[in-house]
Amino acid sequence: MAKQIVMLGPPGAGKGTQAKRLSEKLGIPHVSSGDIFRENLREQTELGKRAEVYVNRGELVPDDLTIAMIRERISRPDCDDGVLLDGFPRTAPQAEALDDMLEALDKGQVDAVPCIVLPDEVLIERLTGRRTCRAQGHIFHITFNPPKEAGICDFDGSELYQRQDDTVETVTNRIRVYLEQTQPLIDYYQQRGVLLEVDGDQSIDMVFDEIISVLVGVQGA
Ligand code: ADP
Ligand code: ADP
Repeated sequence: MAKQIVMLGPPGAGKGTQAKRLSEKLGIPHVSSGDIFRENLREQTELGKRAEVYVNRGELVPDDLTIAMIRERISRPDCDDGVLLDGFPRTAPQAEALDDMLEALDKGQVDAVPCIVLPDEVLIERLTGRRTCRAQGHIFHITFNPPKEAGICDFDGSELYQRQDDTVETVTNRIRVYLEQTQPLIDYYQQRGVLLEVDGDQSIDMVFDEIISVLVGVQGA
């Protein structure tokens, strides 16, 4: 099975939801750039303070900051056997930097890129109804994937909140940023023969099964 995996797809496609499950199934860490930024924002670290204005506006954090953050994360020993990246890379320079860092760390190349495809109109509904767990970033939806008890995370009992960037206005901006800056990465990975398209407009379980079945095809690569 693939080891260096990048999840692609627009905001709200279900990357985080699927990555959390996949990480458990494959036994490799889930590295979400958005989760790391939110953690730093909450703790008001130097990185958090620098990233805050971009995250809150739904714009991309500058490449140099983002790349340094991911380089540090994937250099840790828990990523020795592979990594599942969610939300990174999002720009062409980030994708090139990822290739360079994997090579420098002797980890080979990105070998599978599940890309979750979904019509734009569904994305807004997904994002504005999303609720996120304070403690560990578990993901719910008020209608499509509700917690057992409203406002409380099923997994760790912490509070569920609505992300500040999940308002209609910021969401629209994030989708625009995706189309301009991240969508071109689909071609980048397609040309390498590692892109695996997945239909995101089906139940969470069905999307998961489809991702597993396309990844199995990569086994031994
Ligand atoms: P992304 O990480 O791509 O932005 P998320 O995994 O956070 O997306 O999912 C966005 C929202 O859509 C969440 O509220 C999640 O519960 C919900 N969701 C994810 N996958 C599905 C699905 N297959 N069907 C319905 N809702 C989904
Ligand atoms: P979603 O999957 O819902 O779009 P994320 O949690 O991945 O959201 O990202 C939230 C925000 O964090 C982004 O809107 C952006 O401001 C910042 N961010 C996350 N990943 C990156 C990245 N690779 N490059 C630049 N900014 C990023």
